[in-house]
Amino acid sequence: MKYFLYCRKSQESEDRQSLSLPAQVTEMSEYARNNSLNIVHVYIESKSARFPNKRLLFSEMIGKIQNGEADAILCYHTNRLSRNPEEAGKIMQMISDGIIKEIRTANETISWENANDILLGVQFGTNSQFSKDLSRVTKRGTREKIRRGEWPTLAPLFYINYEDKGVKNIKPDPSNSQVYSNWIDKVIYQKLNIPEAVSLLNELGVRSRKGKMLANSTVHEVLRNPIYCGMIKYKDYEVTKGTFPALISEEKWNELQIVLNDRTKPNKSKWNHKYKRIMRCGKCGLMVTGYTKVKKSGKAYTYYSCTKRNGDCGNPPITEDKLEKQVLDNLSKIELNRTIIDSLKTLIIEKLDKESSFEVQKRKSIESSILMNSNKLDRLLHMRMDNELTIDEYASEKKKILEENVKLEESRSAVVYNRTSLRNQLELFFESCLEIGKLFTNGTIEEKRAIIYEVTESISLEDEKLRWNFKKPYQSLIMIKNSPNQEEWGS
Ligand SMILES: [Zn+2]
Repeated sequence: MKYFLYCRKSQESEDRQSLSLPAQVTEMSEYARNNSLNIVHVYIESKSARFPNKRLLFSEMIGKIQNGEADAILCYHTNRLSRNPEEAGKIMQMISDGIIKEIRTANETISWENANDILLGVQFGTNSQFSKDLSRVTKRGTREKIRRGEWPTLAPLFYINYEDKGVKNIKPDPSNSQVYSNWIDKVIYQKLNIPEAVSLLNELGVRSRKGKMLANSTVHEVLRNPIYCGMIKYKDYEVTKGTFPALISEEKWNELQIVLNDRTKPNKSKWNHKYKRIMRCGKCGLMVTGYTKVKKSGKAYTYYSCTKRNGDCGNPPITEDKLEKQVLDNLSKIELNRTIIDSLKTLIIEKLDKESSFEVQKRKSIESSILMNSNKLDRLLHMRMDNELTIDEYASEKKKILEENVKLEESRSAVVYNRTSLRNQLELFFESCLEIGKLFTNGTIEEKRAIIYEVTESISLEDEKLRWNFKKPYQSLIMIKNSPNQEEWGS
């Protein structure tokens, strides 16, 4: 199939939240590369789609599809294509006529096989929105796919998507699936926590689809996903047995869940005070410790308080519930959702590209030295041929230059390497902010403490209030999150 990539964003209010044009182009080009889609032309239009026949490039694209120059459209979201019923209807008609064979977005594939449903959607609900119709149709397609035992979307880690005789499904990823069952054994029998399970996977060389190091949140999902014992659990559809090969038995998977549940049970040992020695007294600076009191009713209450070793500083104790609520409030300040992460990442990477001019200069100067050396070698050779140099002189000069070149080549690759590793770090940083609250709530005591240590510079407790100091990167994140131009990040 030949695809047109269509990106659109207007200045109108309904589009404020959508991804910027460069971000749409970047995201979808990458999607096309990953899925080997053949893009024949990219349309970039900054016009509203609220009213029909206002977009020159959109009309041009539709015309070209009618001329057979392409038969599929790739876009970030269906609402990039149309926000009015007339043009939506036109696209649906073209799909039902088979002129457009497929519309792909970041999350769904709408194909001409669903033509009848789409027509119905138009006839009975001309006022309903394009994307609403399409999502209904896709949902139906998804349900059928799941009923047939086929995984309906992008393959999770350890699996890859493939297509055979028109049937799209998943199969074990030959590059890493053989690692999975061993890894699960270790998680079960060595009772690894999430960070340990993550670093083991990273050590084993397992990477995300994009080749990045794995993040805690991803691995958390992997451990909870029954797909690896052959079951499809997708959104709120009924759980169904898949027709793809499982990587472990159902028994093993159940065993894993029991181990995970056991570890995530909060307050497993009721005298273990999870916030002890993690914050300081705001009045005298000593460490805050925890203690548990059992009331006559038999109910236990946990408090945190200054050790008061230097005398009573007058700082009152706080209950664990109150403390925990404040911890969660603070963590929620740095919690990001997928959309925000994606737009921030795009922004920062763009900025990184601009600011890397220093690196570019460094590399240029290294490259020009390498070039100069190769000119020197040429000159040496000519001098040798004209007998201006003896064989020995020539050999020793040549050796010097070649040795210098080896060093130059090394420093050139170091410059490139730094940049990639900076990107990987950024990636991990953002992923760690994804659902950090959920990760914290479900975490073991060790994991909770690790999260707090990771994000804070210092915490102190005074009059039942936490003074919470985030580390630098997280601090700037809050500034961005609270900036008044929030809805313009994507612009
Ligand atoms: Zn104190």
